[in-house]
Amino acid sequence: MELIDKTALFKISYGLYVLTTNDGKKDNGMICNTVMQVTSEPLTVAVGINKANYSCETVLKTKKMNVVTLTEKCDFSIFERFGFASGKEKDKFENLKYWKSQNGLPVLVDIVNSFISLEVKESIDLETHYLFICQVTEAKSISDDNSMTYDYYHKYVKRKTDTTKKGYVCTICGYIYEGEPLPEDFICPICKYPASAFVKL
Ligand code: FE
Repeated sequence: MELIDKTALFKISYGLYVLTTNDGKKDNGMICNTVMQVTSEPLTVAVGINKANYSCETVLKTKKMNVVTLTEKCDFSIFERFGFASGKEKDKFENLKYWKSQNGLPVLVDIVNSFISLEVKESIDLETHYLFICQVTEAKSISDDNSMTYDYYHKYVKRKTDTTKKGYVCTICGYIYEGEPLPEDFICPICKYPASAFVKL
């Protein structure tokens, strides 16, 4: 019998955040679910970022980021804007309302309920990702709206899958790979998640 049932890991609950940065030229943001408070004294937050994201490079260089908590009011367009494009080429904040916290990084409005400004104390190389151990430099609760969980996103926000197609669908963004089999080293061209995030249609 298989010792590791990967679906067991799907039972861990996560929130969804926009992680904002600035590379010295422009503001950038990405969708992130791997954020957790690790200790309260000193106040420490850990954030995992995929190396394929331009933000990872920026955080390694600048040592700072904002974690902005999305609420259930947030619709799919925000995930398309921040999750399915690279900030290297595109201005992800174009025509979007936001303001800046003390560290000069963006905080979105209306669809968020809090933000936390972080300063990186340690960067741990995990091959595909970096895990950043951070100190909180500023934090504010903005509204009492419910935070969006990963589960809520999958149930109510994510784009519905086209069931006429055959192949594999990315459980993160809904991208469909039409072919058989799905290559083991496949990376979703939209959200950059690996083949393990795909299920057969
Ligand atoms: Fe995807």
